[in-house]
Amino acid sequence: MILLHICCGPCSLYFVKYFREKNLPFVGYFYNPNIHPYKEFRQRIRALEEVQKIKNFEIIWDKEYGLRKFVKETFMLWDKPGKRCERCYIMRLKATVKKALEIKAEAFTSTLLYSVHQDHELIKAIAEDLSYKYKVPLYYDDFRKGYKEGQKEAIALGIYRQGYCGCIFSEEERYYKKRKKELLRQLKANDTFLFHQ
Ligand code: SF4
Repeated sequence: MILLHICCGPCSLYFVKYFREKNLPFVGYFYNPNIHPYKEFRQRIRALEEVQKIKNFEIIWDKEYGLRKFVKETFMLWDKPGKRCERCYIMRLKATVKKALEIKAEAFTSTLLYSVHQDHELIKAIAEDLSYKYKVPLYYDDFRKGYKEGQKEAIALGIYRQGYCGCIFSEEERYYKKRKKELLRQLKANDTFLFHQ
């Protein structure tokens, strides 16, 4: 059996299809202390519960809200997205490999390897390191090939799709791009104004 770390409902859909097509037994594992604020955390749990109900598969749940855990893990890295994400991947994948050992899974993998928005190579490298260290095989594939298909299915099923990665910083960053554009527009407008003085 493969232990599949699941970050959210929409990302789990492709894996259900993938493992079933290959006749590979799997169990999901929801462990994401990186999702904030609390309302969003609950909403993502509800979305995955919905997927679970439709697709009928087993999930090991950790429903404890992990804001403090996440902040402790990423301390001083808040404004360094690359380092912060690396710590965040390690935190979730380490918990997954430990859970795989605990339940005697034959291998582990993660829906993080499916996202086209994450640092795929870094996630793979971290998972390989953990696999070597804890002696639990990593089930690897470039699951990004199923991204479009999975997201299409999520839309068709009406599953909630979040607008940001998870942590409060990524929530800010999604608006920051728009804010930056707006600031530049205002600056340009001011320049024009000054130019005409
Ligand atoms: S942006 Fe995503 S991967 Fe990076 S720290 Fe935040 S929740 Fe984790």
